[in-house]
Amino acid sequence: MSKISETVKRARTAFNSGKTRPLKFRIQQLENLQRMVKEREEEITAALYADLHKSKQSVLYEECIYFLQEVEYALSNLPQWILDEPVENDNTKDEQLYIHSEPLGVVLIIGSWDYPFVLSIQPLVGAIAAGNAVVLKPSEVSEKTAILLATLLPQYLDKDLFPVINGGVPETTELLKEKFDHILYTGSTGVGKIIMTAAAKHLTPVTLELGGKSPCYIDKDCDLDVACRRITWGKFMNSGQICLAPDYILCDPALQGQVVEKIKKTLKEFYGDDAKSSPDYGRMVNSRHFQRVMSLIEGQKVAYGGNGDEASCYIAPTILTDVDPRSQVMQEEIFGPVLPIVCVKSLEEAIQFINERPKPLALYVFSNNDQVIKKMIAETSSGGVTANDVILHAGVHTLPFGGVGDSGMGAYHGKKSFEIFSHRRSCLIKPLKMEDSDKFRFPPFPVKDSLK
Ligand code: NAD
Repeated sequence: MSKISETVKRARTAFNSGKTRPLKFRIQQLENLQRMVKEREEEITAALYADLHKSKQSVLYEECIYFLQEVEYALSNLPQWILDEPVENDNTKDEQLYIHSEPLGVVLIIGSWDYPFVLSIQPLVGAIAAGNAVVLKPSEVSEKTAILLATLLPQYLDKDLFPVINGGVPETTELLKEKFDHILYTGSTGVGKIIMTAAAKHLTPVTLELGGKSPCYIDKDCDLDVACRRITWGKFMNSGQICLAPDYILCDPALQGQVVEKIKKTLKEFYGDDAKSSPDYGRMVNSRHFQRVMSLIEGQKVAYGGNGDEASCYIAPTILTDVDPRSQVMQEEIFGPVLPIVCVKSLEEAIQFINERPKPLALYVFSNNDQVIKKMIAETSSGGVTANDVILHAGVHTLPFGGVGDSGMGAYHGKKSFEIFSHRRSCLIKPLKMEDSDKFRFPPFPVKDSLK
């Protein structure tokens, strides 16, 4: 038996022991996770700096604080979430009817490299809260964080129930041969299809947190200073390597020049004249992604930036104007610090543009006019929407986070995380009495040949 099979088997044996079922155990494991993040802050920030040049502040804000809040939210609500949910009984008052949330069993969580810490451990919160064993597979691309997770988790969580498996595609492929009770995968749409195909062989349900090109429409009736500042924040954080980044801007040709100027001004405010020397500006995760993103700039009209340094995987914040929708930069998710502007003449044209493409993970619309926002939401589809800002809908515990169509299936965060890792079991408990009232159920049946 391979080491991977043995690890999964050990997790299943530990799950079958019933250890994860008591509320007390789940709370204790969640508190340990919380403690891990607080106590090992230095090691976490060092690993993320090594992998992605993330500053301490961005690690704290983008990878740790929201996570700690998510654990806190689960800890304070879990005693209610696990309660059996009574349902209306329109049959007889003698039966008890309720829905009981039970753990699924052993679940697999596969993380992505752009936010390699939080995207690995955040799904763990729901899985632990729901009483599962979890096999965690961090992304090998962000190697230092993957190694750190494999070192830290066994020091804080039950070793048999929550193993970490590191490795690349061969290890993930081997893992996917095992039977899991649920798989939550965060990563690209292409690999998402591989995950779903492997899961189908075992009839394992999946939650796929994928990516896509998230559009950002700027209406003419808009405070451009505020809009451009918020867009700049969301587009260039982590050097554009965030699934929720506004991928491209759609706006009227008359706005394009002003949008460029205001984003340029904000970039200088955020990162100075040379982003390369700013402690707050990230790097591409590796040379492959550096080359991929640099090649998207080729042949485009560069209004700002456009240069890079392969040795340090640095790509300058870049704005492209008058971008042809048929060009390569508009065919794939950019996942880098390159912001194309595509001109459209109206809200209707923007809606049509969005609807002609795969459903994105997020959609952004900036307008002073509520009707423009409502029309955009009503006539398009995306995993989620933030209007007059970017990314924020993913940070609200009461809003499930996930994609639709090519950007994914299923959602998590907050209570939804508990739900996706639970089976809602319908229960009917009947007393062993009043047998007479059931006599028509059993043969021999009285003769009745019509419903009238
Ligand atoms: P990826 O999908 O290539 O890799 C992620 C994981 O998949 C790794 O653990 C890796 O081992 C495994 N993997 C890769 N190739 C595999 C194969 N052939 N067979 C089996 N397993 C394989 O990561 P990526 O595409 O570079 O990640 C970026 C994508 O993730 C972007 O599209 C981004 O939008 C998306 N993303 C989505 C979210 C979200 O929450 N929706 C968050 C972050 C990133």
